[in-house]
Parts: sequence; C-alpha cells; structure tokens
Amino acid sequence: MPHRPYIVGNWKMNGTRAMLAEARAIDRAAGRYPDVQVAIAPPFTLIGALREAVSAMGVGGQDCHVNAKGAHTGDVSAQMLVDTGADFVIVGHSERRKDHGEGDDLIKAKAEAALAAGLGIIVCVGETLEERDGGKAEAVVSAQVTASMPDADAAADAVASGKVAVAYEPVWAIGTGRVAEVADVVAMHAQIRQQLLALYGEIGAKVRILYGGSVNAGNARDLLAAEGVGGALVGGASLTAEAFLPIVAAA
Ligand code: PGA
Repeated sequence: MPHRPYIVGNWKMNGTRAMLAEARAIDRAAGRYPDVQVAIAPPFTLIGALREAVSAMGVGGQDCHVNAKGAHTGDVSAQMLVDTGADFVIVGHSERRKDHGEGDDLIKAKAEAALAAGLGIIVCVGETLEERDGGKAEAVVSAQVTASMPDADAAADAVASGKVAVAYEPVWAIGTGRVAEVADVVAMHAQIRQQLLALYGEIGAKVRILYGGSVNAGNARDLLAAEGVGGALVGGASLTAEAFLPIVAAA
C-alpha cells in the first residue's frame, strides 16, 4: 500500500458528551499505531469537545455549507469547522445525497469551499443496489467522481499534500451488514484511480481511496489488504473503541 492507511470513523447522528470516553480510548490506541492515520467525524455538536479530548487522531465534520457565513439556518460553514477544531470534512455521503437531495454540483462546491478553508476532504461516491444489479455501478461511480471531485485548480495543493480522499461506499453496503466483494472493490478503486490521475495528473496517485460499507473487525483485514484500498470509512463499527480498534489494528 503506497499510502499511510487512513481509518475514519463516521459517527453520523450519534454521540453525546457521554461518548467522549470512547473517543479518548480510541485516541490512546491510535497513538500506538503511528503508521495508521486515525480520525473521527462526530456530529457538529461534539467537534470542539472531541478536539480537546484527543491528541493523536484527526477530528472532522460530516458536511459543510458552500458559503463562509450568512442566512442559512441550521447550516455550518467550513470556516466554522476549522474554528471549532476540525481538520477535515466528509462531503457527499450517500445519506446527504438521499436525505437532503444533494447532487454532484453541490458536493463539488462544498469540496472546493472546504479546501479553500484549509480542511482536508473525503468525497463519497457509490452506487445503489438497483444500479449495481442493472450493471451500471461503474458508470454511476465514474459520473460521480467526474462531477463531484474538486477541480485541479482548486485542489492541486491539497492533493499533493495528501489532504484529499475519496470514499467508495456502495449504498447497499452501508449499515446493512452486506459487504462488497473484495474483487469488486479492487476493480472500482482501480477505475477511480485512473480518473484521479486523469483529473489531477501524477499527483492523483496521492489521493487515498477508502472503502466504506459495513466494515467491521471481521472483514477489515481482507478489505484493507486489497489492492488499491487506502483505508476505510466506518460507520456503525466506529461508535465504540471495542469495535473500532480492531479495524485500526488490521490496517
Ligand atoms: P457503516 O457506514 O459502516 O455503518 O456501513 C459506513 C458509512 O456510511 O460511512
């Protein structure tokens, strides 16, 4: 694996201050695996507290607005994420695409806004079950990568410094316990890599491509050892240190 593996927990809409103890336990263990980059994206409400509670791992947001500030009730900007201690943000998660109707253009604008604010980004892509069964998975993911990754002008510095990641998350594998076949993951990651090289030139090799979708202690080793898999975006299994740390160890 050419990159330092990147293992990211996405807490989604889970977590109150009571969960800071889990974050501390994850952080202590992360300190024992310096070869693995570990991060958690908690809900907005916990970013500041998590930042203060941990030292070895990254802390990120799960979404941001395209604007820096203004009349957008309920939204949070990339600058606000930076201010509260985040160092990266996830954009384009399938739950945002579905629950909030976010399309590729908006996701790309969010990704560029986040980079301009100095955040690292994880841009999520992935096909639905219907699309996979219809033989369209490759075309759907290809179109998402083309339309939702930031332009080379906006992203070159961040790409070169390893602050840009893509997460391939088949929608049907998220939270379902159904994991993609390793061979399908390898094939999709190879396709995404070709697109990144075409988009960014040779520095496109520095973008880590993570797999996400029901990653757990039992399947992490095979997935993370697979060709082209630079890490994992982990939902359910990131909520406790007990579930998450075996995944970090597997990397
Ligand atoms: P899961 O979620 O690990 O619970 O399937 C992954 C994700 O949505 O990032």
